[in-house]
Amino acid sequence: MDCIFCDIVSGKIPSDTVYQDEEVMAFRDINPKASTHLIIIPKSHIPTLAHLSKEQLPLMGRLVGIANKLAKDEGISQSGYKVVINCGRGGGQLVPHLHLHLIGGRYFFEPPL
Ligand code: AMP
Ligand code: ZN
Repeated sequence: MDCIFCDIVSGKIPSDTVYQDEEVMAFRDINPKASTHLIIIPKSHIPTLAHLSKEQLPLMGRLVGIANKLAKDEGISQSGYKVVINCGRGGGQLVPHLHLHLIGGRYFFEPPL
């Protein structure tokens, strides 16, 4: 399948990986919008948030828990951070493999919201 994030999971495309377990992987965004900008993904290919089944909801909880852990590791837990999920073209999603953005620290642009 033609998916950049699946290629990162398989190791075909290199990434600056900061976390992984059997279900989840997190790596630094290649085009960061802030001093911390991580991408957190399920290893399985789920195209968008809208494709998430009821059975996959606990996985979403794990992704959020890992975002919180990584925010602590990055030292932005106290200062605060954004966890963003873009869903579909209208939601600004460019890579069609479900992912969370963890953004915080020093912003390179003003945060939009
Ligand atoms: P989105 O607009 O929510 O789909 O965001 C996709 C994000 O993936 C963007 O912030 C990109 O900079 C990032 N990205 C695209 N390709 C790579 C890659 N090979 N390694 C790391 N991050 C990437
Ligand atoms: Zn994929």
